[in-house]
Amino acid sequence: MIKICHLYPDLLNLYGDRGNIIAFQQRCRWRNIPVEVHEVGIGDVLYFDHFDFLFLGGGSDREQNLIVADLMQRRNELKEAIEKGLVLLAICGGYQLLGKYYLTREGENIPGLGILDFYTRAGDRRLVGNVAVETNLGGETVILTGFENHSGQTYLGSIQPLGKVRSGNGNNGEDGWEGARYKNVFCSYLHGPLLPKNARLTDHLIFLVLKRRNRQELLKPLDNTFEDRACRVMLGRMGLV
Ligand code: GLN
Repeated sequence: MIKICHLYPDLLNLYGDRGNIIAFQQRCRWRNIPVEVHEVGIGDVLYFDHFDFLFLGGGSDREQNLIVADLMQRRNELKEAIEKGLVLLAICGGYQLLGKYYLTREGENIPGLGILDFYTRAGDRRLVGNVAVETNLGGETVILTGFENHSGQTYLGSIQPLGKVRSGNGNNGEDGWEGARYKNVFCSYLHGPLLPKNARLTDHLIFLVLKRRNRQELLKPLDNTFEDRACRVMLGRMGLV
């Protein structure tokens, strides 16, 4: 049984981020892999070790502020779980909170968990629109598509990016990088939601979960005709095919 933890589903769920959970769950179900989702909110008991996949969605500055104290209390356990290989997807506001801090446009400093080496500060303009990102998943070059809408601009320290921007802004509209990646942690600015739009990434996350359990053989191939076609439409809109 694969156990998914959706952290703060009521507060971090921008632009349909919940769709990431639905896509992950559905692609497991199509392979007859049992899966269950636990929603964990502020103050709820949470043992990261009990979960295979953790999802942290996007949120406005206000919502980030509402959850940060609760998240901070869980910092050390989360860091330990990440070091042990927990598979984690963090989007936009959730992504920013894993770094050192987020300095908002109003000059407020929202502290981050400081687990990953990057920081974020609000820029003069919001970065909004479709994005295409070239990344590598299990040795294969894959183009991810999604939609970004953030004022925070993220600058990576020693951590790897998720990928290279082929169209759109990505982390900060300057250095050409999008997202961040560390062990089994994947961070991205891409809403869309990300996983329904990018079946290969979803399968890669499921693969990492199964690998930790020594059950990789359960990842049977699926027919991705529609998913691939949808992805091509988006790449076409960005002038990439
Ligand atoms: N509040 C953050 C920003 O504007 C995150 C927004 C989001 O999650 N889309 O940068």
